[in-house]
Amino acid sequence: MNGADAGSCIVVGAGISGLLAARELRAEGWRVTVVEKGRRVGGRMATLRLGGGNFDHGAQFFTVRGERFAGLVEGWLAAGAAEEWSRGFADAAGEYNQDGHPRYRGSGGMTSIPEYLARGLDVRTGERAVRAEPRAGGWEVACEGGLRVSGAALLLTAPVPQSMELVESGGHELPEEVRGRLREVSYDPCLALLALLDGPAGVPEPGGMQIKGEPLDWIGDNRRKGISETHAITIHAGPGWSRDHFDDDEPEITRSLLSLATNRLATDLGSLTLETSLVRWPYSWVTNSHPEPCLAVPDGPPLLFCGDAFGQPKVEGAALSGLAAADRLLGRQG
Ligand SMILES: Cc1cc2nc3c(=O)[nH]c(=O)nc-3n(C[C@H](O)[C@H](O)[C@H](O)COP(=O)(O)OP(=O)(O)OC[C@H]3O[C@@H](n4cnc5c(N)ncnc54)[C@H](O)[C@@H]3O)c2cc1C
Repeated sequence: MNGADAGSCIVVGAGISGLLAARELRAEGWRVTVVEKGRRVGGRMATLRLGGGNFDHGAQFFTVRGERFAGLVEGWLAAGAAEEWSRGFADAAGEYNQDGHPRYRGSGGMTSIPEYLARGLDVRTGERAVRAEPRAGGWEVACEGGLRVSGAALLLTAPVPQSMELVESGGHELPEEVRGRLREVSYDPCLALLALLDGPAGVPEPGGMQIKGEPLDWIGDNRRKGISETHAITIHAGPGWSRDHFDDDEPEITRSLLSLATNRLATDLGSLTLETSLVRWPYSWVTNSHPEPCLAVPDGPPLLFCGDAFGQPKVEGAALSGLAAADRLLGRQG
């Protein structure tokens, strides 16, 4: 490999931040390669098919606050990649609280949006980046399966501990000040149980119960949400419960979460359940973020960190962070 070209970038991670950054750079004529360890794009905007049901198991919906994000979402709505779901959710008591603010979802599940954004990009899925090394004024990234990609710039969009591990794997030393700032970022874990049911679970209108507590944080009915033809529910444990039980055996976690949700919904989920799957998210919500929308490492070939840990959290924050990283590489004010 003969070093890197000007106007080229390796993006690690095909979540919303990485895909939006890649699109911006591509639109300015950059050569961009996105490497993604998952089989599909989307990262934490994830939709899984299980036994005939469709489940959103990471992000459940998103809201819009700022103008720049609103502009993007308008485009997704017009393209049919996103839809409005509701203007509020049921609370812990089952009361549907409508506050007038739209909550959006991907049209076929949250993954519809990243899938739409990935069109026309060079995205290599199923490629886990395991080593990143500065080479000839740019970067070279090696993936587990043997793929090697090079670029003038490197954009890391994975949760921060994973990005730090990758960049340090090749012996590259981050300045102490940068390491310190990155180490301040923290996340909550989330245990997500997906259950395919034989009948309705009794999740109240509009198919989402936002409990925001412990031991349960959320119960979503993917059928009422409009993304599954069969009865398919997503149960998210709260951050404290998830931390305490993160490494427990799957059958034990499954039993507990079904029983907790049964109590909450007053429907015997145990007798309705046909199939389950457990997803362990070590990094779900950001609990302490970096104040700037991205972080550019001052020395060496261009190296940037971005994602939902930079600036604002959630889907909107991640999207804006990806755009900010692209702005930075393109020398735009943003
Ligand atoms: C359970 C849960 C519930 C949530 N609920 C909501 C919600 O309701 N509303 C909301 O707005 N937000 C929610 N969020 C947060 C939201 O999903 C994230 O803020 C957002 O999707 C983050 O996008 P990102 O691009 O920063 O990171 P990610 O989506 O995590 O993308 C990073 C990508 O990098 C890839 N990657 C990591 N390491 C490597 C490697 N070594 N090589 C190659 N690829 C790699 C990952 O596979 C991933 O695809 C939720 C998250 C979770 C987990």
